[in-house]
Amino acid sequence: MIPKTRHPNVRGTRTGYVIRYTCPSCTAESVIVNKSARDHFREARAAVCRHCRTRINVLTPGKDS
Ligand SMILES: [Zn+2]
Repeated sequence: MIPKTRHPNVRGTRTGYVIRYTCPSCTAESVIVNKSARDHFREARAAVCRHCRTRINVLTPGKDS
């Protein structure tokens, strides 16, 4: 299930518990660190770019991909 939002979708890349994504607005790379196992298995999450404050819907690949 991917929640529907009005925010742009960005596909992130997962490295362990860290998800990296590139802001579509300012092209800055940011990271999300999962703090719980429940977060770890979510397929998408809302993020806010720390550089330009753009809200982003980050799609995270499954743990096997
Ligand atoms: Zn940005």
